[in-house]
Amino acid sequence: MGNLTQDQLLRLAERMRDRKALLMAEIRGALSQTARSQYVDLLGVGGDAADESVASLLRDITESEVVRDVGEVRDIVAAEQRLAAGRFGTCIDCESPIDAKRLEAYPTAKRCLSCQQHREKTRAASKYTGR
Ligand SMILES: [Zn+2]
Repeated sequence: MGNLTQDQLLRLAERMRDRKALLMAEIRGALSQTARSQYVDLLGVGGDAADESVASLLRDITESEVVRDVGEVRDIVAAEQRLAAGRFGTCIDCESPIDAKRLEAYPTAKRCLSCQQHREKTRAASKYTGR
């Protein structure tokens, strides 16, 4: 399994667990805020048009934050699954071990640096051929 020691793996697993707990708390908080503002809408409080648009803007911001948080939780869960399957730290594209320093900085990394760079280059290129 990669080039990480058991000790490093345990520390990364712990960091991911903490991060996931933090994100889940954020998501729960944001969702209850959204629910509250919808309740306010239902009550018809603050019928002023300007207030309404501010409220919906705030809701949009909260939603995009939640989407980002959920995406990160999903990455962590996937990393935990790779950890459980003994595939953590192995590049999903070329199957070579991911550099330990890279994993220390970015525990949910699925690819080695060269595969990731390749992927980003191809993605950036297709973005410009778009519009
Ligand atoms: Zn690779």
